[in-house]
Amino acid sequence: QHYLQRIEQFRHLNAFIEVYANEALERARELDRKIQAGEQLGALGGVVIGIKDVLCYKDHKVSAASHILEGFTSLYSATAIERLLAADAIIIGNLNCDEFAMGSTNENSTYGKVLNALDTTRVPGGSSGGSAVAVQADLCQVSLGSDTGGSVRQPADFCGIVGLKPTYGRISRHGLIAYASSFDQIGIFGKNVADVGAVLQVIAGPDEYDSTASQKEVPNYLTNLSHNKPRKYAYLYDALHHDGLDAEMKAGFESLFEKLSDEGNTVTGVPFEYLDYIVPAYYVLTTAEASSNLSRYDGVKFGHRTALENLELNDFYKKSRSEGFGKEVKKRILLGTFVLSAGYYDAYYSKAQQVRRLVVEKLQAILSEYDAILLPTVPTTAFKIGEKMDDPIAMYLADIYTVLANLTGVPAISVPLHRHSNGMPYGVQIITKKFDEEQLLQIANNVL
Ligand code: GLN
Repeated sequence: QHYLQRIEQFRHLNAFIEVYANEALERARELDRKIQAGEQLGALGGVVIGIKDVLCYKDHKVSAASHILEGFTSLYSATAIERLLAADAIIIGNLNCDEFAMGSTNENSTYGKVLNALDTTRVPGGSSGGSAVAVQADLCQVSLGSDTGGSVRQPADFCGIVGLKPTYGRISRHGLIAYASSFDQIGIFGKNVADVGAVLQVIAGPDEYDSTASQKEVPNYLTNLSHNKPRKYAYLYDALHHDGLDAEMKAGFESLFEKLSDEGNTVTGVPFEYLDYIVPAYYVLTTAEASSNLSRYDGVKFGHRTALENLELNDFYKKSRSEGFGKEVKKRILLGTFVLSAGYYDAYYSKAQQVRRLVVEKLQAILSEYDAILLPTVPTTAFKIGEKMDDPIAMYLADIYTVLANLTGVPAISVPLHRHSNGMPYGVQIITKKFDEEQLLQIANNVL
């Protein structure tokens, strides 16, 4: 009831698409009955959770904030959702986002933009903007998002909360609407690291419905969460000296590095010469994968179909897709189709795959020598609403620090660091080796 009241009070932020009010209350009562009967609740007993509108939840609508999926109801639940429910969590509603998770501001949604609760003239970030604001404004305790190139870490940074993108393969993608399958990963928002760890504990692990979900055992993330020791940190020299990085934020990171050194850690600047290539490689590869993934929305199988009759089959597809997809999604389908086309495949798609390989090797080399990499999450604080909409290249370039973890599959977390003199928060990003979420969470929890 507390969260339902707050959701009503903060309707203007536009974080929720649908609120499952009756259902959530009924579930709360049911959990209460279990407690009265002396039964033990699951690990997330009574925890109130919101989910991004890209996660399937059986018998509930899901649309990826797109007109093309209007009216579509999930036939099954994502594995992550099944596990939340099995752990006795309460799912309170689904959350606004950029259409098909494409964007950095939550301005590309068929349900309209989401506002940053700290300053409503600013964006909350994206694409999981609704998920970030729901936690920021205390409309639920934790939330799920998806992170293909930063969509959990970047809005967490803009909203002053914690956002985790686990290792590729740590959480099953079964029931997550695909954007770019070799990059996508479900991520978690929370007010603190322990909450995020508790949710990861429940939803991580092997899944027979997703062959890319790792068979690796899930360690206990919470028992040693407060464990601390002197560590070897690397920061990417080229990232810290990048033109686009806000000067005040740069100073903030430098003082963090000093503080860590004073506390007995080592913090070393290492060269990273591929910085300028990672955003182009990311957008070539993700648009290519998206153009393939989104071919399933043809007006026949689900969602919107054109009302025009007596069309040839191809015209029917074109019409349904033209009416159903928004501008950013169309742009990316076109770009992706172009980079995969026979004449340009080698110049763009193959080249970007080669860049991806080099970056993977470089990052592995750094992480074989250091415990963790420290990076900014975003080069600036939250943009003003509308500020970046006319300049897509500037918008894409602001993903410079987040796409690295998705290109390489490593886990990364954004944790609030300081408040900028403009009043907005900004975070620091921590990266560890694949499947080393245990250390990642420890660092996030202790050091900052
Ligand atoms: N801003 C990035 C993009 O538009 C990230 C999206 C994401 O992680 N889903 O592709």
